[in-house]
Amino acid sequence: MEKIADVMSISGGKDSAAMWIYATKELGVKVIPVFADTGNEHPSTYEYLDYLERELGPIRRVVPDFTKQIAKKREYVINHWPTKLQKDIPGRWVSVEPEFEGSSEEDLTLPPSTPPIDIYKTYKGVTGWIWEPTVKGKSFEEAEAIVSRALEHLHPTGIPFLDLCIWKGRFPSTKARFCTEWLKIIPIAEDVYFPLLEDGYHIVSWQGVRAAESPARAKLPMREETPEGYEVYRPLLNWSARDVFDMHKKHGIEPNPLYSQGMSRVGCMPCINVNKGELFEISRRFPEEIARISEWERLVAGASRRGDSSFLPALDADDKKNIHDWVEWSKTSYGGHTYDLLKMISLEEPITCSSVYGLCE
Ligand code: SF4
Repeated sequence: MEKIADVMSISGGKDSAAMWIYATKELGVKVIPVFADTGNEHPSTYEYLDYLERELGPIRRVVPDFTKQIAKKREYVINHWPTKLQKDIPGRWVSVEPEFEGSSEEDLTLPPSTPPIDIYKTYKGVTGWIWEPTVKGKSFEEAEAIVSRALEHLHPTGIPFLDLCIWKGRFPSTKARFCTEWLKIIPIAEDVYFPLLEDGYHIVSWQGVRAAESPARAKLPMREETPEGYEVYRPLLNWSARDVFDMHKKHGIEPNPLYSQGMSRVGCMPCINVNKGELFEISRRFPEEIARISEWERLVAGASRRGDSSFLPALDADDKKNIHDWVEWSKTSYGGHTYDLLKMISLEEPITCSSVYGLCE
């Protein structure tokens, strides 16, 4: 008889929790719930995962480790940076957001990118592309100082998200979203999927996506076979957000408390895709998370060749923003030039329950 393993990725968010409740309580399917720990989650999410374990059963926790990659990077820095840093870097057009997936700061300097437009006609008016003038090579002493600063910071901390960024010399961004791949997809595949496949299991991978979330998700089928040899099942495809919370309520399981605290999604705190309102709520309610990201910016900058790095990307070459600058921006009204009076007043008031899903009565 074919051996079947039902595997689902649990994030601590409402959809994956509802899917686990549905599988366990309504279908009686014994699933393998897997949580990939990015180290960039809010403490409430870790507590919530403990709560889910007490209610539904053990969760397989996967913790990505970048010790080897950081050790290799140290070798690279020692052997190659001194020469590279002393060479001139020719001027070039670069995308404000690098396009290539999984890029490290090494990829960002070579090869020169090609602007997608006629640069002479549209030099002033194009957003997304900037001209980086020729950078003169460093002196021997300057190069030595940069190498020694990087080596001082190139050590694993044991926090997966931070170690990934220390290794890459930069933070991920919406266009170079290497975090999902390195913090979730690869570790779960290596720790869970590959061993199960080797043991002869047919894997059914449960995905808690809903069609209402985006036009791309609306096109996904309920079931499909992947080229990697496992089956994907999306039982929540036709569910609404209300259905998801109803599933929790029906079986007496609380949703993650962050939903009652103004968060529209649960996952990294913050995610690189954070929107203005979420960033405002995070800074207002959890200033310690902003302080943590600020410290991470310092550490990643220290490990990078350029000596600077920000969690959220700059809007243009002269507009470098760190996380505190972005928090200030999150307090502004549309256009970003003046403070939003209502937001400023709310900063003075005690924090009350608020939920984008109407969870607060
Ligand atoms: S996309 Fe967002 S939630 Fe996903 S790993 Fe990256 S930062 Fe975390």
